[in-house]
Amino acid sequence: MTETILVDFNNPVVVGNELQYMAEAIAFAKTSGDGPFTHKASALLEKELGVPKVLLTTSCTHALEMFALLLDIQPGDEVILPSFTFVSTVNAFVLRGAKPVFADVRPDTLNLDESRLEALVTPRTKAIVPVHYAGVGCEMDAILDIAGRHAVPVAEDNAHGLFGKYKGKYLGTFGALAAQSFHETKNFSCGEGGALLINDPKYIERAEIIREKGTNRSRFFRGQVDKYTWVDVGSSYLPSDILAAYLLGQLEQREKVQSHRRKVWDFYDAALKDWAQTHEVGLPHIPAHVEQAYHMFYMLLPTLELRQAFIAHLRRRGILSVFHYLPLHLSDMGRRFGGQPGDCPVTERVSDQLVRLPFHNALAESDLQKVVDAIMEFDF
Ligand SMILES: *Cc1c(COP(=O)(O)O)cnc(C)c1O
Repeated sequence: MTETILVDFNNPVVVGNELQYMAEAIAFAKTSGDGPFTHKASALLEKELGVPKVLLTTSCTHALEMFALLLDIQPGDEVILPSFTFVSTVNAFVLRGAKPVFADVRPDTLNLDESRLEALVTPRTKAIVPVHYAGVGCEMDAILDIAGRHAVPVAEDNAHGLFGKYKGKYLGTFGALAAQSFHETKNFSCGEGGALLINDPKYIERAEIIREKGTNRSRFFRGQVDKYTWVDVGSSYLPSDILAAYLLGQLEQREKVQSHRRKVWDFYDAALKDWAQTHEVGLPHIPAHVEQAYHMFYMLLPTLELRQAFIAHLRRRGILSVFHYLPLHLSDMGRRFGGQPGDCPVTERVSDQLVRLPFHNALAESDLQKVVDAIMEFDF
């Protein structure tokens, strides 16, 4: 495995004024959290998405941990989430002593299967956490309806879905809370970073406190109290203003970035459609009422063996592709919570079949053509 890499899976590139803004943040000499660039980046997101309050965080993982603190998750509480997601979605709640209840996903969008959701709700259910996989919106009408009837809050893991929409409304604006990721593998990044979106204003004040080590420092800086002190549990969830400066440079280029990513996605989709059909390979399904966020392009190979052979085939041609998400309910930790084979059959199947193609903000059409040509040579 020492072949040169021709097409990388990911490449987090500078797309605008990131470096200039970082230099300004350093020159301003207030490089800790909640400086001018943090305010600009969060204001941009609040305005663009129409969210009452956006708090930048050190990661999406930390925004998810804030969900659990804000929703007051206690030992023994149950939280419903898909098995087909990143570990942070579940860890955030398990850290508070919650029991994860794993939901299966729909075979078409790989999103939490809303038709199986209500059967998982019990009197102990304290949160429902949908994940907009690949930036394609979950069936939020049905999910909110079920959650509303049982008075359970919804909190969206929107790590993939920034600027995607469901029925014309931005993903991340449906739940009481939502979490974004600015990790280097996401559409917009600052290396490591995230954001908590607060749609229900009743959580704003406590979120500010939790994010600032359990102190009322934010109120102090607004002049609302004359000293600041320890008022609640909390941690340090605010990023340096230097990272916020980088992030602002990225977010300002959102139209350029998203239109580039749309071209990448459309290229793969158009070039692979016929081949996929004749080889019984699945391609992403985007429901008509959803505007996806163009986070990734995946394929579903017929079997695990073919998927592994496919990844190795591309690797020999210098192209990096990756699989995604081992089912959480079958992980070592998931089994400790009672996870069994057969609990989430769709998740178990697609986890063996799925492969993600190179997808980033620096892919040229010649790179995409190399990927497609290599795929066409994969014979089975
Ligand atoms: C990337 C990702 C996270 C974690 O994001 P970090 O910013 O790296 O903490 C959480 N959930 C999902 C679905 C993700 O893809």
